Amino acid sequence: MNFCESCNIACNDERCPKCGSKKLRAINEDDFCFVAKVDRFFGDNLKDWLKEENIECVLMPYGAGVRARFALPLESYLLYVRYKNLEYVRQIISDTNA
Ligand SMILES: [Zn+2]
Repeated sequence: MNFCESCNIACNDERCPKCGSKKLRAINEDDFCFVAKVDRFFGDNLKDWLKEENIECVLMPYGAGVRARFALPLESYLLYVRYKNLEYVRQIISDTNA
């Protein structure tokens, strides 16, 4: 598995699917990888679930620029977890959205 440091994306290809960079390196299990865009409510719940399982996650407010300027509530997060937890968290998300 390869890893793009600028996008935090884990991929099997030699080229990053997001930015097209070929400067990928082998992934480490502690690298934070992009999982999915999740809505705010789901993200807040997920954070609590993962905390109970001692899984670290990072939630980046999405669309912060414009909304923050108008003081609107943020509607979604970009979710990142460590590579060693990636498959597990993906599974939770697909089960929940099913
Ligand atoms: Zn990239």
